[in-house]
Amino acid sequence: MIPFRITIVGSGSAIPTLQRAATSQVVQYNGTTLLIDCAEGTQIQLKKLKISIMRIDHVFISHLHGDHYFGLIGLINTLHLIGRTNPLTIFGPSELIDILNLQLKASDTKLRYTIHFNALQTDGKQLIFEDKNLRYYSFPVIHRIPTWGFLFEEKETERQINPLFVAQQKLDIPTIKAIKSGSDYTDGNGNTVANNLITFPLDKRRSYAFCTDTSFDERLATYFNGVSVLYYEATFMHHMADTAAETFHSTSKQAAQMALIANAEKLLIGHFSSRYTDLQPLLDESRAVFPNTDLALDGNVFEIAV
Ligand SMILES: [Zn+2]
Ligand SMILES: [Zn+2]
Repeated sequence: MIPFRITIVGSGSAIPTLQRAATSQVVQYNGTTLLIDCAEGTQIQLKKLKISIMRIDHVFISHLHGDHYFGLIGLINTLHLIGRTNPLTIFGPSELIDILNLQLKASDTKLRYTIHFNALQTDGKQLIFEDKNLRYYSFPVIHRIPTWGFLFEEKETERQINPLFVAQQKLDIPTIKAIKSGSDYTDGNGNTVANNLITFPLDKRRSYAFCTDTSFDERLATYFNGVSVLYYEATFMHHMADTAAETFHSTSKQAAQMALIANAEKLLIGHFSSRYTDLQPLLDESRAVFPNTDLALDGNVFEIAV
């Protein structure tokens, strides 16, 4: 199975603590490396996690609160200093490119590589990119300033071939590959067997949704219905639901409700307020509604299984 791996680089909220850096995550899929958000301190966190910044292909910035992007110019500058030449694609709010250009201009930095910047759109779920493995979507969430979530979804993969048929017909590798990519099979006597009789589709496509910082609203679930793993913010415990609403955040109970409504298979909660040192009560609160919840802690790695 192709690895589909999420690494939590930082799981804190606005104020970093000794236990939790502010938001950043890495998604790795079959040689492609994605960075979601890039808070202050992300470079050091990545070094500790032995993730090479040179390997980052695309960066996704959810919004322009500092705890989600204050590390980006530092990362961009380091890539320049260590000799990156491959282009870097950045998806983010439209103002982001002006901020970066101003910072680069003020320091008279002429990058050795090109930044391909893509401004996120506010109207609903958008397919923002695709490569041979994944489709990348953005969707607007509900926060004090324009903010987006992201969904990364496996494409339809090759059909699986019936192993019994392979054994019976003693198929060679090129024939197996041809059948997996949709060809019918013709045996030595000229008899043709239709592809759909000897192959079957994979059960499901794996997906990962990143959804923070946002107020709770059931309608968000439509953007990632059936997702394999949902990362959703749990800035506060539910007794602070009023504070959560006032600050356009969500609670650990609401995170679980969202996972339930979205038919998610697994929930990761994060973006914890710096007031919490013991996160067990937040986890307990989530698990009471959605048992398959885990804390997203700095350094945690989650493999998305089939
Ligand atoms: Zn935040
Ligand atoms: Zn925010």
